[in-house]
Amino acid sequence: MNIHEYQAKELLAKYGIGIPAGHAALTVEEAVEGAKKLPGPLYVVKAQIHAGGRGKGKFTELGPDAKGGVRLSKSIEEVEANAKEMLGNTLVTIQTGDAGKQVNRLYVTDGVDIAKEYYLSMLVDRATGRVAMIVSTEGGMDIEEVAHSTPEKIVTITIDPAEGFQPHHGRAVAFGLKLTGDLNKQAQKLAKQLYTAFVDLDCAMLEINPLVETEDGNLLVLDTKMSFDSNALYRHPDVMELRDETEEDPAEIEASKYDLAYIKLDGDIGCMVNGAGLAMATMDIIKLNGMFPANFLDVGGGATTEKVTAAFKIILGDPNVKGILVNIFGGIMKCDVIAEGIVAAAKDVNLSVPLVVRLEGTNVDKGKEILANSGLAIVPANDLGDAARKIVAEVKAVA
Ligand code: ADP
Ligand code: MG
Repeated sequence: MNIHEYQAKELLAKYGIGIPAGHAALTVEEAVEGAKKLPGPLYVVKAQIHAGGRGKGKFTELGPDAKGGVRLSKSIEEVEANAKEMLGNTLVTIQTGDAGKQVNRLYVTDGVDIAKEYYLSMLVDRATGRVAMIVSTEGGMDIEEVAHSTPEKIVTITIDPAEGFQPHHGRAVAFGLKLTGDLNKQAQKLAKQLYTAFVDLDCAMLEINPLVETEDGNLLVLDTKMSFDSNALYRHPDVMELRDETEEDPAEIEASKYDLAYIKLDGDIGCMVNGAGLAMATMDIIKLNGMFPANFLDVGGGATTEKVTAAFKIILGDPNVKGILVNIFGGIMKCDVIAEGIVAAAKDVNLSVPLVVRLEGTNVDKGKEILANSGLAIVPANDLGDAARKIVAEVKAVA
């Protein structure tokens, strides 16, 4: 789960981390009120969307000359004008895709005199089973380019969670950022605070870009992105409250209500599978046969009629879907029970696209019989390859 920049900053501030003052706003009036509470004379109005690259983003509706999603404002009047322009309009950034994201919230924050921009991020590194802290002296809006053309400027420090954060980790971070004197000490302290926050909050990712050195010699977090391990969210009701469903895909929200793991993709073949590994294999084999999956969908171990129906509805809610491939292994659930679920669900949703079903496992023959006698145009398949070839052929025949 992702949260907004201002929410992440509020969480980090609780750990004593240096954050410029700021106020979130849902309306132009709130933006003006927020600005009035700040010392001035420089304010920054920032679009709050769950995507980065806002500074270089474009409000396409406002024409090619419009400024991006992070706007320096030299007076309250400018804050007001910028807030008016941004709220309700769609910001397209390198991370939003072409459709962009509508800006419904703003953050009005203190303008900072920046001496230098740095980069610092943390994530759970699955390869090492440790927390990785990644730093660079070349922070700011071009970090992707730095990673691409000068990877030696990116330094990774790994921290074993069993050992916890040690003073030498802090020194390595400060050294990686090439900081000396008091700034070096500040970086060591900050790294420890960030590690504590990261572990305490069960973060999956925490990125600070830029981390800035101010003209008066302080390290401040100017921008931050934070995401959480959704399996640990139950431990953090306060974090769960920060969820902004308007930023999420409505189909993914619907899926989570039924405990379905669903991720929308760009292809034409809707997939309904049980088990993440089988789902991945199904997607691969569709690609191998020349088409692309419209989604990843794992209905889990207990593929009940209710779940299968919800899954069908979610898949069919995607206008790109031209055919559905159901690939279910009846292990704990028996194939006949699954087949009944599929038939009931297919009738319930008035299935209008080709449906190929591959069942395997306990009571598979009974299951196949139920599908064959359903009166529905269900195409049975015997194995993964057969299923993928059949759905691709069915879809191409209709087109
Ligand atoms: P994004 O990463 O989405 O583009 P940032 O918050 O990183 O958004 O802002 C982009 C750039 O705008 C930063 O690299 C920094 O140079 C500038 N900036 C952001 N916030 C402030 C601020 N409070 N004061 C001064 N400059 C800022
Ligand atoms: Mg940034």
